Amino acid sequence: MRRIQHFIDGQHTAGSSGRVSDVYDPATGKVQAQVDLASVSEVNQVVASATKAAIGWSESSLTQRTQIMFRFRELLAARTDELAKVISSEHGKVVSDAAGEVARGLENVEFACGIAHHLKGEINEQVSDGIEVYSLRQPLGVVAGITPFNFPAMVPAWMFATAIACGNAFICKPSERDPSAAMLIAEWLIEAGLPPGVFSVLNGDKEAVDALIDHEDVAAISFVGSTPIASYVYERATNAGKRVQALGGAKNHMLVLPDADIDMAADAAVSAAYGSAGERCMAVSALVAVGSVADELVQAIANRIPAVKIGPGTEPEAEMGPLITQEHRDRVAGYVERAQEAGAVAVVDGAIADLPSDGFFYGPTLLDEVTSDMECYQDEIFGPVLSVVRVETFREAIDLINSNPFGNGTAIFTRDGGAARQFQHEVQVGMVGINVPIPVPVAYHSFGGWKASLFGDTHMYGPEGVRFYTRAKAITARWPDPASSQVDLGFPQNQ
Ligand code: NAD
Repeated sequence: MRRIQHFIDGQHTAGSSGRVSDVYDPATGKVQAQVDLASVSEVNQVVASATKAAIGWSESSLTQRTQIMFRFRELLAARTDELAKVISSEHGKVVSDAAGEVARGLENVEFACGIAHHLKGEINEQVSDGIEVYSLRQPLGVVAGITPFNFPAMVPAWMFATAIACGNAFICKPSERDPSAAMLIAEWLIEAGLPPGVFSVLNGDKEAVDALIDHEDVAAISFVGSTPIASYVYERATNAGKRVQALGGAKNHMLVLPDADIDMAADAAVSAAYGSAGERCMAVSALVAVGSVADELVQAIANRIPAVKIGPGTEPEAEMGPLITQEHRDRVAGYVERAQEAGAVAVVDGAIADLPSDGFFYGPTLLDEVTSDMECYQDEIFGPVLSVVRVETFREAIDLINSNPFGNGTAIFTRDGGAARQFQHEVQVGMVGINVPIPVPVAYHSFGGWKASLFGDTHMYGPEGVRFYTRAKAITARWPDPASSQVDLGFPQNQ
């Protein structure tokens, strides 16, 4: 059985805890590898290595850091297909979708190639007679990122590219369900010239996460995952005195007004609800149909579903792969069953779809007549299930979205610019699409939801990522003639 170890001090390092977790191929349902799960002593080992590496790395020149990032960017671009296949084999998403994930992660690396521009401080000359004030941004030291299964390359890239370029050492704790992407990234960073210990991979579960959070030499924690764990990580890490950004789950609404182009809205809904089998934090899971649009839109979506090609991610024509585990597949099926018991109408039921016989497959599901008190509306299902909520007015639609506890992403489909502007202004959600179903901001903006979708003050990557991974220092300097020096016990005032 293939064993996935840790990556410490620039090399694959066998675990010593004796604990492992199975890594499946979700398309076959078979175990393909086992991953080491770290104990506290391995956490101490990786933090010691990172702490040592951070000292030298924080003194590296911007030129060196930038050149390494450029080299890594070239390796990643050239090896996108290789990484995409590895992601597909452990996650299940189709290879083309995995390549899309790598491409978006690559954009974060490209942002990091220009880090010098973002680390520029500011200066005021002559704030008082002969005095300058200027600011610097310096790295924090050792920072850790805890990442979810659904984007095993892109979410680590949201974090490590900026963290490392800012001069920190980064420890990645990937999901134990698909850890190999992070291991490949670690190897390629070394190949690009990154000194050993600046990027490490620590595989593990709660034990590793808790020990990383509690370790006094870890300065900051970035987390992406489900809301209950995000909330737990935020609380524990802030109590430990750390800087934390913890991104949680989502229930993303797509609002369709009666004036929208029905075909375009239906194409967008199918793509955003069923892409990656709905296992995206920005997937559309609730469709809010306003007024007369509902019947026609539901029909247009239902008409498109049979054409979605379901199969193993490595099949070139497949568009939707399996879910991550059998347990998760059964959980999704349970939601769909209970939704129907509660009164929702399964226009298309994924349980009875024509699916491959092996693996953790579940078909695209369209639930109509869903109401806001139903479990299928309230919970993040994280599967290929789209719930249609019918409302009478635009006002009702906005109020529905704003009363949802999550606030990650949302989209409006309309041809009315005034309505779109009102929506972007009033909606209580961090990322908004106007005729764009999955509004993931580009790498030079920042990513983050509101409410139960993000705990902390800074969003991830882009300019907010730079602020998160650095500390500001303000310098006040003067170069007076020593002959003018005198004792003055008064509080310094500017003249
Ligand atoms: P998860 O919360 O189960 O796991 C995330 C990470 O936390 C993993 O590394 C896991 O090992 C660790 N973890 C799990 N249980 C833990 C515990 N009890 N204590 C400490 N650490 C623990 O999430 P997942 O199932 O891997 O990913 C899917 C979730 O992530 C969905 O809810 C999705 O919406 C969310 N997500 C959010 C975003 C975002 O940007 N907001 C992006 C991607 C995924």
